[in-house]
Amino acid sequence: MFDAFDGLGPDQRLLGETVRQFAREVIAPGAIARDEEERFDRSLIGAMAELGLLAGPFPESVGGAGLTAEAWTIVVEEIAAADMAVAVSLCVHVLHQNPVVRWGTPEQQARWLPAMQAGEALGAFALTEPGAGSDAAALRTRATRLAAGGQEIGPDDRTAGGEPTDAAAYRLDGTKIWISNAPEAERYLVFATLDPARGAGGITAFLVEKGTPGFRFGAHEKKMGIRACPAAELVFDGAVIPAANRLGGEGEGYRVALSALGDGRIAIAAACTGLARAALDRATTYLHERRAFGVEIAELQGLRFMVAEMAQQVASARALTRGAAHARDRGAPGAEVAAAASLAKWTASDAAMRVTTDAVQLFGGAGYSRETGVERLMRDAKGAQIYEGTNQVHRGIVADAILGRVPG
Ligand SMILES: Cc1cc2nc3c(=O)[nH]c(=O)nc-3n(C[C@H](O)[C@H](O)[C@H](O)COP(=O)(O)OP(=O)(O)OC[C@H]3O[C@@H](n4cnc5c(N)ncnc54)[C@H](O)[C@@H]3O)c2cc1C
Repeated sequence: MFDAFDGLGPDQRLLGETVRQFAREVIAPGAIARDEEERFDRSLIGAMAELGLLAGPFPESVGGAGLTAEAWTIVVEEIAAADMAVAVSLCVHVLHQNPVVRWGTPEQQARWLPAMQAGEALGAFALTEPGAGSDAAALRTRATRLAAGGQEIGPDDRTAGGEPTDAAAYRLDGTKIWISNAPEAERYLVFATLDPARGAGGITAFLVEKGTPGFRFGAHEKKMGIRACPAAELVFDGAVIPAANRLGGEGEGYRVALSALGDGRIAIAAACTGLARAALDRATTYLHERRAFGVEIAELQGLRFMVAEMAQQVASARALTRGAAHARDRGAPGAEVAAAASLAKWTASDAAMRVTTDAVQLFGGAGYSRETGVERLMRDAKGAQIYEGTNQVHRGIVADAILGRVPG
């Protein structure tokens, strides 16, 4: 029950052991230095590509590794146990590809996915704006429809024959904030509105490449934790995106975003489980090493109870995470999977916050020092209670699933 591999079949155990060894040998060693220097290490993306992890949960028909959602949680837990920042970069890269797999045309998939699977192009997911975080449907980045000649055409314009006028391209204007993997990423999935008055119904998704004229990076976010995973503002000032890069139909962007975030939240829950486990493992070792009052501090009952509760938190986080993944794998109704994903993400990120905070306490002064890397785990945990839906938003989703939505 307390081991991540307990209850796994031979294939999943082999997968977990392979990724654990890789994560311990390749990812863990530089984690403290990368955090101190706020340094993104691109070579780790390449190393994960070699292991076939960058498209792990996608079908083999689109070049993925064909892992189930549950198997993907095993992978992500191991990467996060080594370094949460690397796990978040990986999760965001996969979050970008997810809707291309679900919503992309075969032509878009063939054009977009191979470089991402090979690690040659890194992905980012651009939803949040200065005035739209939890209330993502209030986003204001504007997508203006353009005819082949470059002139603007309205969302409801018709041809002389009465047919809807197809846009040849779209012009994007607006600002995104908190976009993880920016400015390192080459590919951005950008959500913009054709008409703010339409709310969620106006939102449309676009595949945007770094270097597109009219698209630049703004300020670098100065973060508390996961500092080796960069985040930055994106500024769109007349960036013209060909219609071939529209993902899904006009007005379908909000559904595109939500469909990806459902899977993304299960992955973040798995990452939080790994982060909490890493803190518990560090604390367990230390309690046997450190002596006070003539005994190992592992003998002090107050601390033993703390460790028992930390183990309870990790086990609960893992159980709910795998439960949500299992619901996804067995094709449970979408609303059920969404509620299970919310429950897992909220529980696992709260568990990570609590367990990492307790680990700092158990280490005493050594836990507070940046030298040991334990305080980094605590800083890395905090963001997970905020990104991919705040934990208040997730409580709301779970309450809706139980009580029904409040009208209006
Ligand atoms: C480390 C990090 C990485 C991120 N990466 C990305 C990224 O890659 N792409 C991206 O698009 N965004 C990203 N974000 C942004 C993130 O998704 C938003 O910060 C988050 O959705 C919350 O939005 P907000 O910051 O505007 O807070 P607000 O929505 O303004 O929330 C403020 C407070 O109000 C509460 N609240 C809001 N609505 C409700 C409600 N209905 N019921 C109860 N309470 C509510 C919130 O829980 C919070 O406590 C990232 C954020 C962080 C911190």
